[in-house]
Amino acid sequence: TRMSKHRKIAVMGARNVGKSSLTVQFVESRFVESYYPTIENQFTKQVVLGKTAYTLEICDTAGQDEFSLINTKSLMGVKGVAIVYSCVNRASFEIVELIRDKILDQLGLDNVPTVIVANKIDLRDSGINGGRVDSREGAELAARLGAGFVECSAKLNIGVEDAVLQLLKRIEGIDGDLSDA
Ligand code: GDP
Repeated sequence: TRMSKHRKIAVMGARNVGKSSLTVQFVESRFVESYYPTIENQFTKQVVLGKTAYTLEICDTAGQDEFSLINTKSLMGVKGVAIVYSCVNRASFEIVELIRDKILDQLGLDNVPTVIVANKIDLRDSGINGGRVDSREGAELAARLGAGFVECSAKLNIGVEDAVLQLLKRIEGIDGDLSDA
């Protein structure tokens, strides 16, 4: 048996965007309607990318806003970040870049592998609306930040695995499709 490679990633973003829901959906394949909102959790999950096995350590951070500092400890050893916003909450979209800047600041880096995640796409056409953010806006921001972009629903399990695998590919410097790898 081969040893798997260990990679730590962090899930960041404003409060209530679905960070815990996405993490739990990815790790445990279930959606929990009410998850204790402020706690910070660590999960591990085995994934295979190409022919390589990875042990992902996923740090589901507590919510961030303009005022709260990002917890330095949770970023220690992080190789990539998923920054989540809700596509029915414009305020959560508008602080994505700020969160990214704070992460870089904390890590002391010019760049870190990043995937921008637009969550709650199942609500986009529901009347629930805290200021809709359309796909094009999310994709443009991601391109400007040099990040990947994935639209997700933690509730319906859409895009969740794709977001993690895209992030892992960025961390490993792998481009495109691995089906023939
Ligand atoms: P966090 O504060 O960013 O960790 O957000 P949570 O994971 O606690 O989710 C906040 C709320 O949004 C909860 O009530 C979740 O059930 C709900 N939620 C999370 N993801 C989705 C989603 O994809 N679709 C819908 N409809 N609700 C979601």
